[in-house]
Amino acid sequence: MPEAAKKPSPKPSPKPGPKPCPKPCPICRRPMVEAFRPFCSDRCRQVDLGRWLTEAYVVPGPAVEEPEPE
Ligand SMILES: [Zn+2]
Repeated sequence: MPEAAKKPSPKPSPKPGPKPCPKPCPICRRPMVEAFRPFCSDRCRQVDLGRWLTEAYVVPGPAVEEPEPE
């Protein structure tokens, strides 16, 4: 009985652990801070909020058609 057939079985064990690379701040691309996620700071959060508001003002909505008085 030959004992040469000892093969170290490869163990591909992908452990679902914490992600090594968190998403960067969408504003300045710096590492996200848990307290301000998904941003890196309160400043970037405000910037994002302002951006939304600004776009809301810039983007022209559908023209409101007023009913013509007869
Ligand atoms: Zn940022």
